[in-house]
Amino acid sequence: MLRIEDLHVEVGGRPILKGVDLHIKPGETHVLFGPNGSGKSTLLGAIMGFKRYRITGGRIVFKGEDITNLSVHERARLGIGVAFQRPPVLRGVSLGDLLRVTGNGRKDIDELALPLHLETFLERDVNYGFSGGEVKRSEMLQLLAQSPDLVLLDEPESGVDLENIATIGEAINQLLWKDGIRGQHCSRREFKEGRQKAGLIITHTGYILDYVPADLGHVLFDGRLSCSGLNPRELLGCIQKVGYADCLHCLQ
Ligand code: ADP
Ligand code: MG
Ligand code: MG
Repeated sequence: MLRIEDLHVEVGGRPILKGVDLHIKPGETHVLFGPNGSGKSTLLGAIMGFKRYRITGGRIVFKGEDITNLSVHERARLGIGVAFQRPPVLRGVSLGDLLRVTGNGRKDIDELALPLHLETFLERDVNYGFSGGEVKRSEMLQLLAQSPDLVLLDEPESGVDLENIATIGEAINQLLWKDGIRGQHCSRREFKEGRQKAGLIITHTGYILDYVPADLGHVLFDGRLSCSGLNPRELLGCIQKVGYADCLHCLQ
């Protein structure tokens, strides 16, 4: 689904990513850990194609196509979607209007909004006066309307209370599963067939792992992925024990 090769990215003239390699297959959910300022959001921004994140080397391949030089719009159309860490307020644009655009005119917006408890928010300006949890749920709703094949989530649980984390976890599972099939309710065959989408989730606390099954974890440190391709829960335990820099030693 996604193959990143030796990616170098500059932000504000400063090199942030210095050779990132990452391979995400269809059906896989990856988790990205890393200290503040290590470039996690930069990596998502570069995958999505935001101009601020200047790619100075390497390439990004999505579904076999080199997307390194494509616009955000083209990448979204190919099936990449992102939920921001700190989404902007959009005055004068109602959430319902935005959803009709991201959802390409789909008619089931009200149905999608129900489980996220956002059915009364559709007439309101996007994120204007929303609480932290409401902002994050509104991001999930935008992604559900878009239904991308590759789901990029930047700290989906940050600033969200425990009850809302469960709701967001449900939405993430719905996003990552074809037709919203849920893991615990299906056979092995259905499990394999249901998991065609892919996810990359940034998390600091790992709380979201209590709700969302994830396959592989990585640590972004010093501009590269280290401790790559390990079980996310084991990796989180190691980080908690010895810190980001030494997670490799902990696992050996
Ligand atoms: P993370 O998400 O891991 O906390 P970020 O990717 O947000 O880290 O940021 C990586 C580094 O890039 C940080 O040092 C941050 O201050 C810097 N940075 C982010 N945006 C800009 C910008 N617009 N101009 C200059 N530096 C930036
Ligand atoms: Mg960040
Ligand atoms: Mg959004």
